[in-house]
Amino acid sequence: MIRSRFPLILALAVLSFGAIARAGDALPLETCVVNGDKFSEHHAPIMVTYKGRSMFVCCKGCKHKFDKDPEKYLKLWEEALKAQKVKAAK
Ligand SMILES: [Zn+2]
Repeated sequence: MIRSRFPLILALAVLSFGAIARAGDALPLETCVVNGDKFSEHHAPIMVTYKGRSMFVCCKGCKHKFDKDPEKYLKLWEEALKAQKVKAAK
């Protein structure tokens, strides 16, 4: 009985660890895809959302640009994320 429960506990441990890692990944990119500026303490990232998808921009000016063409910037953001993951995997 104890033996059969072990994989479940392990799976739960992996799942909860995954959740923590994802929370730490709140800011997955180092730069703003709108104007290419690096996020920093001076460029506190602003989260923007469009149709349930969200990303970060570095300033209010970028938020305005995002609001005008959210699809374009979400695509740039998602492509940058993918590129970063490919880099990390190598
Ligand atoms: Zn900006």
